[in-house]
Amino acid sequence: MLLVQKYGGTSVGTLERIRACARRCLETRANGHDLVVVVSAMSGETNRLITLANELLGPREQPQIGGPYVVSEGGSDRDYQRELDQLVSTGEKVSASLVAMAIQRLGGAAISLVGHQLGMQTDRVFTNARVTAVDRGRLHAELAAGKIVVCAGFQGLDPEGNITTLGRGGSDTSAVALAAALGADACEILTDVDGVYTTDPRIEPRARKVDRITYEEMIELASLGAKVLQIRSVEFAMKHCVPVHVRSSLNNREGTWIVPEATPPPSDSAAQLRNLEAPVVRGVALDRNEAKVTLTNIPDVPGSVATIFGALARDGIVVDMIIQNASREGATDVTFTVPEADIERSVEQLRTLELGRDTQILTDRAICKISIVGVGMRTHAGVAARAFEVLARANINIQMVSTSEIKVSVVVDERHGDLAVRSLHEGFALHEGP
Ligand code: ASP
Ligand code: MG
Repeated sequence: MLLVQKYGGTSVGTLERIRACARRCLETRANGHDLVVVVSAMSGETNRLITLANELLGPREQPQIGGPYVVSEGGSDRDYQRELDQLVSTGEKVSASLVAMAIQRLGGAAISLVGHQLGMQTDRVFTNARVTAVDRGRLHAELAAGKIVVCAGFQGLDPEGNITTLGRGGSDTSAVALAAALGADACEILTDVDGVYTTDPRIEPRARKVDRITYEEMIELASLGAKVLQIRSVEFAMKHCVPVHVRSSLNNREGTWIVPEATPPPSDSAAQLRNLEAPVVRGVALDRNEAKVTLTNIPDVPGSVATIFGALARDGIVVDMIIQNASREGATDVTFTVPEADIERSVEQLRTLELGRDTQILTDRAICKISIVGVGMRTHAGVAARAFEVLARANINIQMVSTSEIKVSVVVDERHGDLAVRSLHEGFALHEGP
């Protein structure tokens, strides 16, 4: 078998951890597998480098690095961002060479490669590049020579030969991209948690580790999973059908497999039975970082809504839930949610619009969004109704609702977020397991 194993920042955070990582690599090799290892920077290192750059540049010229990455084509921002990628990519270079050395020290054969040496090609978007192709020649050669190939994650090379990085948490995407390119049997993400949970265990101590989850569920549960995996890596895995195994680097227990949705052929009744057992709800996610905007009394004429959301979109504001009320006397109300960090910008944009004379802009930051997610919902009626009933019994008022094929989301008062999560977890018996 060919395995790709990715070790996160804490798993290579000290020399002791690096030695443990090297031992695990050698065990994997001793079990007869070919091995490509992808490493993150030692924990804290990427932040340290970004802080250095920010301190050097000072607040005025700071090219918005370290927060959400903003890329402007041309001009000095782009120059800064090029240098930032040069800078932050060194974190992974350090850990890759240390891991390779540690393996050699234990008698194994290993070689470390940085992004351009291992053929990782990307687009030109500094600090948030996308992988476009992997040139596999070098990797194949080193594997054929019997070596463990230790790759610096998070980085690639653009068509002009500049170093790029793949966004925060991007080593996950490096690992999945390599697994896809090499046709690896699995991509293991070795981290400091033992898998993906039904919900945040800090909110619900009875949260359970799930054995398997589909790509789509994992993407929808981003607010749970983002701490475990860069979501872009899951999208990449889904597109290329790479089985991903999230597990602890501290023990050998099975973690959580992220896999395609099982679609057994109609004739396979055993498989069908297993599929029927797919839980209706796989997990509950809580997002505290949304805020609500309501526009009252907007004219109910063609184009109103287009004007509002067009203005927000032009400013790059991502709108999540939207509801529009039934109109009365030619006017209507629209309510929607945006990331809390964008609320001021949203209001500014909305103020520039010529809406109705009586239109008011109301905002509410004290809300949160709770989502229940599961591919089983596709074949089960009444999931939303059941969720509403559970929340009603807990005396929680629902402010907004949205549904998709595999998800039901509600907006509730921020103070009720934890209780809502626990109630839904209990209401769908998620602590009991499949
Ligand atoms: N070192 C990078 C970061 O901290 C990439 C990674 O760890 O995946 O975002
Ligand atoms: Mg990570």
